[in-house]
Amino acid sequence: MTPPSRLRPYRLAAAVAALLLLVAVAAATVFGVRLLTESNRWVERSHQVIEQLEASQSLLAATQAASRGYRLTAHPSLRGEFHRAGPQALDAALELVRITSDNPSQHARAQSLLRQSTQQIERMQELVDIQDREGQKAAVAAMRVDELVARMHGVNAASEAMRAEELRLLAARRATNERNANLLLGFVLLSLAVSLATLWTLLVSLSRENRHNRNLEREARGALAELQRAQTMTERLSAQRWAISEYTGLLQSAQNLDEAMELTSCTFERLLPHLGGQCYLARASRDFLESRASFGRPAISSSDALPPGDCWALRRGQPHHNRAGGGVRCAHLEHGTSLAAISTLCIPLSAQGETLGMLHASGPVDGGEEDNDAAIIELMGEQLALAIANLRLRETLRQQSLRDPLTGLFNRRYFEESLRREMLRCERRRLPLALLVLDIDHFKSFNDSQGHSAGDAVLAHAGRCIASLVRAEDMACRYGGEEFTIVMPETDAASAVARAEAIRRAVSQQTISHNGRTLGAVTVSIGVATFPQDGVTPELLFEVADAALYRAKAEGRNRVLHAAAGIG
Ligand code: GH3
Ligand code: MG
Ligand code: MG
Repeated sequence: MTPPSRLRPYRLAAAVAALLLLVAVAAATVFGVRLLTESNRWVERSHQVIEQLEASQSLLAATQAASRGYRLTAHPSLRGEFHRAGPQALDAALELVRITSDNPSQHARAQSLLRQSTQQIERMQELVDIQDREGQKAAVAAMRVDELVARMHGVNAASEAMRAEELRLLAARRATNERNANLLLGFVLLSLAVSLATLWTLLVSLSRENRHNRNLEREARGALAELQRAQTMTERLSAQRWAISEYTGLLQSAQNLDEAMELTSCTFERLLPHLGGQCYLARASRDFLESRASFGRPAISSSDALPPGDCWALRRGQPHHNRAGGGVRCAHLEHGTSLAAISTLCIPLSAQGETLGMLHASGPVDGGEEDNDAAIIELMGEQLALAIANLRLRETLRQQSLRDPLTGLFNRRYFEESLRREMLRCERRRLPLALLVLDIDHFKSFNDSQGHSAGDAVLAHAGRCIASLVRAEDMACRYGGEEFTIVMPETDAASAVARAEAIRRAVSQQTISHNGRTLGAVTVSIGVATFPQDGVTPELLFEVADAALYRAKAEGRNRVLHAAAGIG
């Protein structure tokens, strides 16, 4: 950057000095012009005096010539000439006296010249008068040549002295004039040079200062823009931190994986609107991951299902960031799309060493923001992995609290809950529902003869048979002891009886082995009741089904009986 001018403190003083100099130049010019005019006037005066002196001398000479000629020739025209030139010569001498009034020495000389000229002309007039009165001879006789010549010499000497003095004055005045003109010119040129140099220096200093200020301004603007960028970034980061903490809090309250996926989707779109992504969850078998949610606008599509080996992040157990095609490409990404202008990020979702899923994101390369985006996605991934682990654990615990450990079927509490819920649902949708109540025949005597653990083996076997023969939407439960219930939503009486019959047959046909020995055949009796025909409340429906079971027992066991007579 240009440093500020060193002349800055002296700038005002220099500007004032330069202006004063210019004013002085102007004043000196005016004064000089006046002085020169005055000097010229004096030179002019000298010329005038010399001219007047010459005119006076020449008129005096003409007067003398006319007087002499008249004396010699008596020609009247010469007399006339004498009378015309004489007064003119006196007038010229008088004018000389007048114009030298401001120079005492020349004035005295002019007066002397006037006096001598006057005397000379008066003497010539006397001779002319004698000639007019007494004739030519008398005039010639009266003329004293010596006197006239002496007078003429006197006049000439006075005139010469005066001319010499005036010429000396003229030379002196010219010299003074020239010196003054040179001095003035020197002063004006020097002052102009000094003031122009000062003004130029000021201009340079000002322009330097200006440049310096412009640089400062540019730097200030840059710093301000940088500050604003940093502030925007800080605000964005704090908004993102807040959103992440909100996401974490909400994730902890998520009831199931679907809610967790929904939350992830919303948060991702809010925090990273320029990116798109997918969330994969590992299947129970762990051999495949399935896409459970997709969000935003992905720059490249990714398979909906993938084996863990297709993703470098899952293989290595750490985030895999591919910036503008600068890394290894995951096999689950679409093959036809170039990665040149795309960034992709895969983050494994794992907790306690177990891979639970994978978070994948992609977007255009935008420079500068990627590290921050990746950090956010990793943070989301960590929170999501913990949430998935918690939800899975909770689900396991819930399952455990709802299941009977011996048979793997739901327990009585779950049965009562689900019967009530499913009856309400089927009632709303005007659909039938069937309830099967199942009891192992003569279990007590079997238990007594074969032992309690063999009885448990029979119970487990019955549980497996039932579980394998019901539909996914049916709820098979161990009601208590050796009694089971099956809730079959959207099932009418005939289908329910057919299903009950299939279960009865399967249980009776299979042999059970326990501790290396084969146990005897086991049979079951099943009572069937259907909603809404047989009962509209869970309690009533159960009572009716239980009554049908009781009747089946009474009628000889190993059979299926529907509450409505004639079916089963
Ligand atoms: P019925 O054909 O009339 O049903 O005859 P039953 O012998 O099955 O009759 P009951 O219902 O009186 O017998 C139930 C027996 O089941 C009583 C109990 O000893 C036995 N039992 C109940 N719970 C268990 C269990 O968890 N394990 C075993 N091994 N036996 C159980
Ligand atoms: Mg029984
Ligand atoms: Mg019983």
